[in-house]
Amino acid sequence: MPHAHQTQWPGVIYWFRHDLRLHDPVALAHACWLAQSSGGWLLPVFVHDTRDQAMTRWGFDRVGPYRRAWQSMALQDLQSQLQGLGSDLLQGRGHPVQVLSEWVQALGQPLVVCEDIVAPEELDDLWALRERGVKVEAIWQSSLVAPESMPFKPSEVPDLFTAFRQKLERHGSAPATPAQSITALPPLPPEPLYEMAQTMAGARPEDLLPPMVRPDRRSAFDWGLASLHGGEQAALAHLAQYVRRGLPHRYKATRNGLLGLDYSSKWSPWLATGALSARTAWAAIAEFETAHGASKSSDWLRVELLWRDHFRCLHHKHGRRLYAAHGLGKAPPPQHDEKAFMGWRMGQTGHDWIDAGMRELAATGYLSNRMRQNVASYLIHDLGCDWRAGASWFEHCLIDFDVYSNQGNWLYLSGRGTDARANRRFNPDVQAEQYDPDGVYRRTWV
Ligand code: FAD
Repeated sequence: MPHAHQTQWPGVIYWFRHDLRLHDPVALAHACWLAQSSGGWLLPVFVHDTRDQAMTRWGFDRVGPYRRAWQSMALQDLQSQLQGLGSDLLQGRGHPVQVLSEWVQALGQPLVVCEDIVAPEELDDLWALRERGVKVEAIWQSSLVAPESMPFKPSEVPDLFTAFRQKLERHGSAPATPAQSITALPPLPPEPLYEMAQTMAGARPEDLLPPMVRPDRRSAFDWGLASLHGGEQAALAHLAQYVRRGLPHRYKATRNGLLGLDYSSKWSPWLATGALSARTAWAAIAEFETAHGASKSSDWLRVELLWRDHFRCLHHKHGRRLYAAHGLGKAPPPQHDEKAFMGWRMGQTGHDWIDAGMRELAATGYLSNRMRQNVASYLIHDLGCDWRAGASWFEHCLIDFDVYSNQGNWLYLSGRGTDARANRRFNPDVQAEQYDPDGVYRRTWV
């Protein structure tokens, strides 16, 4: 650990972003250490970003009610755990740069610590905070393998996933062991300061109420059930039961399933808010393999988690270029057909396989990987629409929206990403026949 800067600041604001948990708390533990070693306070905060309610260029709100409801469950759980440790979670509402700057000013220029997110808008926010004189330390923590343990510089990350994985394996770059959970926290700021921060937070209690929605009961991930609550405690319980029931040994055979909870891990919704850490999931598989033996299936599940790392690394390497209409390639920008896009969103393309997927997504906020690939391919390659419009609709709907994985997968399927094989089209008739031979999935949703 570096030496704590001698108190140039009275305390530390810990800004929770996509890390709503107390286990494997790399950045939060660092913030606690900085606060403790300087004898200062620690104020945990979260900002409800009002940009999420803004209209996208494609004609709908950026974040839909399901994701807001899912996130608010994680916040609820986090707040009650923080309160159990004598602290709290101060929630504000507005533009994060504005809200944080005001808190910093009112609280006597504390240091802000947060997790590092290397997507364009998130990077711009940090830049804007620093421009306003806010001292911010952003700590990378969301990948399995720490960047410094990788055998290549961020600018030299292999573009192809297989080369990325093989290089990591050959170099023995294992995921970091999860950090110890937080069991104690530094004190909150003194009462008058804390009260002032509360009154400035810009969020009335009614602004913080979750939207009253629940997913359709047919969902493969019915997060209306108590066992699938959005908080960290349910995330860890779900992970524990998944390995206890030996499901890593069945993953490879079932992963292309479409109906029911167990065909895949369903870790992604919790990974997205950070209620579950990827390193903790990896450690659970490793422990399972030690006790019950490794199999091709358990290995496959670990490889899937590495895809998540790869899309993070590609952001480190290519940054904003991943967001350009033409992606990383040189092909002309995509066409767009607004009417076809609307039909796709509403699950009214006339193709029952695609419509089933789109209706499941709209009614639940979750979709299997198989169907994500199919509906994305259909929008891009059959309907001739702009891949960014599809990515934006997924951002609106998905409770497991993750900026790196969503952008990366859409770009990949559009053929404009790092693996630019010309034709990424999935034949929907062949796919429906192969993965839904008896039509049960289509009849469930259409
Ligand atoms: P499992 O099959 O059990 O896999 C375990 C974990 O591995 C997942 O939780 C996820 O963290 C990781 N993983 C698996 N496949 C991928 C992949 N292709 N890319 C990156 N990570 C992967 N995943 C998201 O988490 N958020 C997104 O916003 C997202 N958008 C997507 C958009 C498109 C067009 C496509 C084709 C895929 C997208 N995915 C996204 C990847 C994948 O579909 C989901 O991670 C997966 O379906 C989640 O269910 P699961 O947790 O049961 O996955």
